[in-house]
Amino acid sequence: MADCTYCEFKGSVLFEDEKVVAALPPSPVVPGHAVVFPRQHFQIVEQAPDEIVSRLFEVANKLSIAMFEGLRAQGTNLIVMDGLGAGQKAPHVAVDVVPRTNGDGLSLAWPSRKLSDEQMGLVETQIKDAMLELSVSAAPVPAAAAGKEREEGEPEAEDEGGESVTKKHKRRVDPFLRQLRRLP
Ligand SMILES: [Zn+2]
Repeated sequence: MADCTYCEFKGSVLFEDEKVVAALPPSPVVPGHAVVFPRQHFQIVEQAPDEIVSRLFEVANKLSIAMFEGLRAQGTNLIVMDGLGAGQKAPHVAVDVVPRTNGDGLSLAWPSRKLSDEQMGLVETQIKDAMLELSVSAAPVPAAAAGKEREEGEPEAEDEGGESVTKKHKRRVDPFLRQLRRLP
């Protein structure tokens, strides 16, 4: 895409193949901060095929290991800002890989909060229902794995599943329209 930071990337390339590029961004947050992004323009992760998502994280992991080894990092952050609400700036999927050392002064604010049982139950149901809806188009689970999952599942899970399938038909949304709500 024209005028996209990553489609027209100008920084130092560390690695590239037919699917992804790993590079040093021109304005790093600490020395060694790297970024991995798909060659093809995808605005958010859900638009990218699974094989691209897999490759992004394979290469991000290799970069992370290289930072432990080559930069003597004491830790790494692998960060994806996915969508406008998550602070994504460039409209192109990217995984930031940030080498960390004690006292590097980089602050990732991550305060935890206590939820009531009701709040926790609600978000659990909302996410589970949405995941059930997605499984309609997911790759079929091999028979052996599916059987294993059923054995391990809690007895009440079947009732929840049945109810959710009904709800799913009532509020099916075009995937394209759904994605538009979170694009940067
Ligand atoms: Zn792009």
